[in-house]
Amino acid sequence: MQGINQEVHLPILKEKQLTLFVKREDLIHPFISGNKYRKLKYNILAAQEQNQHTLLTFGGAFSNHIAATAYAGKKYGLRTIGVIRGEELIESWRLNPTLAKAHEHGMEFRFVNRSLYKQRSNISYLEALQVEEGPFYLVPEGGTNALAIKGCEEILSREDKDFNVICSSVGTGGTIAGIINASQENQQVIGFPSLKGDFLKKDICNFVAKENWELNLNYHFGGYAKVSKELIDFINHFKEMTNIPTDPVYTGKLLYGILDLVKQDYFAPGTKILAVHTGGLQGVEGMNLVLKKKNLPLIKV
Ligand SMILES: *Cc1c(COP(=O)(O)O)cnc(C)c1O
Repeated sequence: MQGINQEVHLPILKEKQLTLFVKREDLIHPFISGNKYRKLKYNILAAQEQNQHTLLTFGGAFSNHIAATAYAGKKYGLRTIGVIRGEELIESWRLNPTLAKAHEHGMEFRFVNRSLYKQRSNISYLEALQVEEGPFYLVPEGGTNALAIKGCEEILSREDKDFNVICSSVGTGGTIAGIINASQENQQVIGFPSLKGDFLKKDICNFVAKENWELNLNYHFGGYAKVSKELIDFINHFKEMTNIPTDPVYTGKLLYGILDLVKQDYFAPGTKILAVHTGGLQGVEGMNLVLKKKNLPLIKV
């Protein structure tokens, strides 16, 4: 399964003599879209090989990873347990589109308060969970581990060798690590973190040997899942011009960042740029509920 590359036609690209393609990983599946499919693939194989019947993982209320894990569990016949940040959701989770869908796909929830949630990689907490829940295959928050990175190494294909620059959103850094590993030495990989995080560079270094990459820290819009009117307007405008939908947490910030760098002449004329669309569109409905409350414009779907 491979995302197709779609060329973006915009006057600014023509003016600056640049080529931009979007790798439509968002189209590979409606629920396990984009990078979350890549990140789960080898983990599910490992769970099956280890004869585990339950996947347990962690996530926030709008998490693409929770949505993907729930669906993958249903598809591959595995029980799924989602440890969800926020005790208050016990009352209201049915109103949350991501969680409602995950439940429909069979996921069981354990709602925990924020301080317990912070223990999510603490060995003694995980051991206590094993006692409580019975045996499970652990998928870390966001799905990032060595097997996830192996899966993300399959995002790029041989035909992508001709691009000079490859750009991707960054959350935990697993996806970009896979892209870096699969890139050519003469390609430049640029990651656009969608959150404030000085730890990211070090985390990525743990998984890659190459040095042909950098992070651009200027397009997180205030932090994880933070949005502004400017970002929403961009997402709607970009969709109108190119027919490519993007999400407000990751890929909208990525495309905003790339086109802003284009305006600033960051790329030399003739540069061929590939932007990886990592998916995330399932989160738009939930974000629109938040935007409505804040009286901000909605994302057009
Ligand atoms: C999770 C996610 C990312 C970030 O992936 P990491 O491997 O955590 O860096 C980017 N885009 C989308 C749409 C995601 O859901």
